[in-house]
Amino acid sequence: MYCRYCGEENPEEAQFCRNCGKKLKEEIKKPKIIETTTNNQNDNSESSSTASSSTDDGWIGCCCLALIVIFIMSALMSGI
Ligand SMILES: [Zn+2]
Repeated sequence: MYCRYCGEENPEEAQFCRNCGKKLKEEIKKPKIIETTTNNQNDNSESSSTASSSTDDGWIGCCCLALIVIFIMSALMSGI
């Protein structure tokens, strides 16, 4: 094979260029790349789901606050 850096011709079984010393065969780890992409997708889905749930909790909190305020106001009005 030919070195991609200097163009020197090297034996097929050579792992490093005999001219410049660069690595000829780069180890391609496809499973790791797939794992990272899937993890990213999972993180995105989880973040979106948590964001939506947080907004729901915010609405519930607003409703609870309104109910509490109404309850306090009614109590004050009855007390007066
Ligand atoms: Zn080279």
